[in-house]
Amino acid sequence: MKLDLKRIAVTDGEALPFSYDTDLSKEEWNGEYPFRTPVHVEGEVRNHLGVLRLNATVRAQVETRCARCLAPVKVDLETPCSMILSADVQNDERDDIYQLEGDSVELDDIAVPAMLLEIPMTYLCRPDCKGLCPTCGSNLNEGPCGCSGRQIDSRLAVLQKLLDHDG
Ligand SMILES: [Zn+2]
Ligand SMILES: [Zn+2]
Repeated sequence: MKLDLKRIAVTDGEALPFSYDTDLSKEEWNGEYPFRTPVHVEGEVRNHLGVLRLNATVRAQVETRCARCLAPVKVDLETPCSMILSADVQNDERDDIYQLEGDSVELDDIAVPAMLLEIPMTYLCRPDCKGLCPTCGSNLNEGPCGCSGRQIDSRLAVLQKLLDHDG
Protein backbone atom coordinates (compact mmCIF):
# COMPACT_ATOMS: atom_id res chain seq x y z
CA MET A 1 0.00 0.00 0.00
CA LYS A 2 1.23 3.47 -0.88
CA LEU A 3 1.00 5.96 2.00
CA ASP A 4 0.90 9.67 1.24
CA LEU A 5 3.03 11.42 3.85
CA LYS A 6 2.27 15.03 2.84
CA ARG A 7 -0.38 15.49 5.55
CA ILE A 8 1.97 14.67 8.44
CA ALA A 9 5.32 15.76 7.01
CA VAL A 10 5.16 19.28 8.47
CA THR A 11 3.15 18.86 11.69
CA ASP A 12 4.81 17.59 14.86
CA GLY A 13 2.82 14.89 16.63
CA GLU A 14 0.63 14.01 13.64
CA ALA A 15 0.23 10.34 12.85
CA LEU A 16 -1.07 8.38 9.87
CA PRO A 17 -2.41 4.96 10.77
CA PHE A 18 -2.63 2.17 8.22
CA SER A 19 -3.99 -1.36 8.10
CA TYR A 20 -4.09 -3.47 4.96
CA ASP A 21 -3.64 -6.94 3.50
CA THR A 22 -1.02 -7.75 0.93
CA ASP A 23 -0.85 -10.74 -1.38
CA LEU A 24 2.53 -12.48 -1.13
CA SER A 25 1.44 -15.76 -2.69
CA LYS A 26 4.07 -15.27 -5.41
CA GLU A 27 6.84 -14.42 -2.94
CA GLU A 28 9.47 -17.14 -3.03
CA TRP A 29 11.27 -18.07 0.16
CA ASN A 30 13.68 -20.95 0.55
CA GLY A 31 12.46 -22.52 -2.71
CA GLU A 32 8.83 -22.45 -1.58
CA TYR A 33 5.79 -20.16 -1.71
CA PRO A 34 4.83 -20.17 1.97
CA PHE A 35 2.35 -17.26 2.03
CA ARG A 36 -0.87 -18.79 0.78
CA THR A 37 -3.09 -16.45 2.78
CA PRO A 38 -2.92 -12.64 2.70
CA VAL A 39 -0.31 -11.02 4.92
CA HIS A 40 -1.66 -8.31 7.22
CA VAL A 41 0.26 -5.12 7.88
CA GLU A 42 -0.83 -2.48 10.40
CA GLY A 43 0.73 0.41 12.22
CA GLU A 44 1.37 4.10 11.80
CA VAL A 45 3.83 6.69 10.65
CA ARG A 46 4.25 9.48 13.19
CA ASN A 47 5.96 12.82 12.93
CA HIS A 48 8.00 13.25 16.09
CA LEU A 49 9.89 16.56 16.15
CA GLY A 50 10.14 16.47 12.39
CA VAL A 51 11.34 12.88 12.19
CA LEU A 52 8.98 10.41 10.51
CA ARG A 53 8.98 7.08 12.26
CA LEU A 54 7.11 4.05 11.04
CA ASN A 55 6.01 1.40 13.50
CA ALA A 56 4.21 -1.63 12.15
CA THR A 57 3.31 -5.21 12.87
CA VAL A 58 3.30 -7.76 10.07
CA ARG A 59 1.15 -10.85 10.57
CA ALA A 60 1.73 -13.74 8.21
CA GLN A 61 0.85 -17.39 8.13
CA VAL A 62 3.82 -19.41 6.90
CA GLU A 63 2.94 -22.74 5.29
CA THR A 64 5.99 -24.91 4.93
CA ARG A 65 7.32 -28.35 5.78
CA CYS A 66 9.08 -29.78 8.81
CA ALA A 67 12.84 -29.78 8.15
CA ARG A 68 13.18 -33.28 9.60
CA CYS A 69 10.08 -35.28 8.62
CA LEU A 70 8.58 -33.10 5.83
CA ALA A 71 5.16 -32.97 7.48
CA PRO A 72 3.19 -29.81 6.57
CA VAL A 73 3.67 -27.03 9.12
CA LYS A 74 1.60 -23.87 9.52
CA VAL A 75 3.08 -21.14 11.68
CA ASP A 76 1.62 -17.75 12.58
CA LEU A 77 4.38 -15.21 12.41
CA GLU A 78 4.14 -11.76 13.97
CA THR A 79 6.97 -9.38 13.14
CA PRO A 80 7.38 -5.91 14.62
CA CYS A 81 8.97 -3.40 12.31
CA SER A 82 10.31 0.04 13.14
CA MET A 83 11.94 2.41 10.68
CA ILE A 84 12.81 6.07 10.31
CA LEU A 85 11.71 7.52 6.97
CA SER A 86 14.00 10.15 5.59
CA ALA A 87 14.49 11.79 2.23
CA ASP A 88 18.01 12.62 3.15
CA VAL A 89 19.97 9.59 4.29
CA GLN A 90 23.48 10.64 5.19
CA ASN A 91 24.66 7.46 6.79
CA ASP A 92 23.67 4.51 4.61
CA GLU A 93 25.30 2.14 7.10
CA ARG A 94 22.22 2.45 9.31
CA ASP A 95 19.62 -0.15 8.52
CA ASP A 96 16.85 1.52 10.53
CA ILE A 97 16.55 4.41 8.06
CA TYR A 98 14.51 4.07 4.92
CA GLN A 99 15.31 6.39 2.02
CA LEU A 100 12.16 8.25 0.99
CA GLU A 101 11.64 9.20 -2.60
CA GLY A 102 8.98 11.87 -2.94
CA ASP A 103 6.05 12.43 -0.59
CA SER A 104 4.88 8.85 -0.28
CA VAL A 105 6.11 5.49 0.82
CA GLU A 106 5.31 2.00 -0.46
CA LEU A 107 4.70 0.18 2.82
CA ASP A 108 5.33 -3.26 1.30
CA ASP A 109 8.93 -2.23 0.55
CA ILE A 110 9.54 -1.89 4.29
CA ALA A 111 7.19 -4.42 5.85
CA VAL A 112 7.86 -7.39 3.57
CA PRO A 113 11.69 -7.45 3.84
CA ALA A 114 11.41 -6.95 7.63
CA MET A 115 9.10 -9.95 7.86
CA LEU A 116 11.19 -12.16 5.54
CA LEU A 117 14.27 -11.49 7.68
CA GLU A 118 12.52 -12.87 10.73
CA ILE A 119 11.51 -16.21 9.22
CA PRO A 120 13.66 -19.00 10.62
CA MET A 121 15.39 -21.02 7.88
CA THR A 122 13.94 -24.22 9.29
CA TYR A 123 10.74 -25.20 11.01
CA LEU A 124 10.03 -28.38 12.91
CA CYS A 125 6.56 -29.93 13.25
CA ARG A 126 7.37 -30.26 16.97
CA PRO A 127 10.55 -29.62 18.97
CA ASP A 128 11.30 -33.31 19.43
CA CYS A 129 10.52 -34.43 15.89
CA LYS A 130 12.43 -37.65 15.29
CA GLY A 131 12.57 -37.16 11.53
CA LEU A 132 12.78 -39.78 8.81
CA CYS A 133 14.94 -42.89 8.92
CA PRO A 134 17.94 -42.23 6.64
CA THR A 135 17.87 -45.86 5.53
CA CYS A 136 14.23 -46.65 4.77
CA GLY A 137 12.56 -43.21 4.88
CA SER A 138 9.96 -44.18 7.48
CA ASN A 139 8.59 -41.43 9.69
CA LEU A 140 10.17 -42.21 13.05
CA ASN A 141 7.51 -40.17 14.89
CA GLU A 142 5.14 -43.00 14.05
CA GLY A 143 7.35 -45.57 15.74
CA PRO A 144 10.68 -47.32 15.20
CA CYS A 145 11.22 -48.76 11.72
CA GLY A 146 13.58 -51.61 12.58
CA CYS A 147 16.60 -50.20 10.73
CA SER A 148 18.44 -48.78 13.76
CA GLY A 149 19.27 -52.22 15.11
CA ARG A 150 20.80 -53.27 11.81
CA GLN A 151 22.84 -50.05 11.58
CA ILE A 152 24.49 -50.80 14.91
CA ASP A 153 25.12 -54.33 13.69
CA SER A 154 26.95 -53.12 10.60
CA ARG A 155 29.09 -50.74 12.66
CA LEU A 156 30.02 -53.61 14.95
CA ALA A 157 30.89 -55.69 11.93
CA VAL A 158 33.36 -53.02 10.76
CA LEU A 159 34.89 -52.93 14.22
CA GLN A 160 35.10 -56.70 14.23
CA LYS A 161 36.92 -56.63 10.87
CA LEU A 162 39.49 -54.13 12.26
CA LEU A 163 40.03 -56.29 15.30
CA ASP A 164 40.49 -59.33 13.11
CA HIS A 165 43.09 -57.43 11.11
CA ASP A 166 45.11 -56.51 14.20
CA GLY A 167 45.11 -60.00 15.51
ZN1 LIG B 1 8.73 -33.28 11.81
ZN1 LIG C 1 14.39 -47.38 8.68
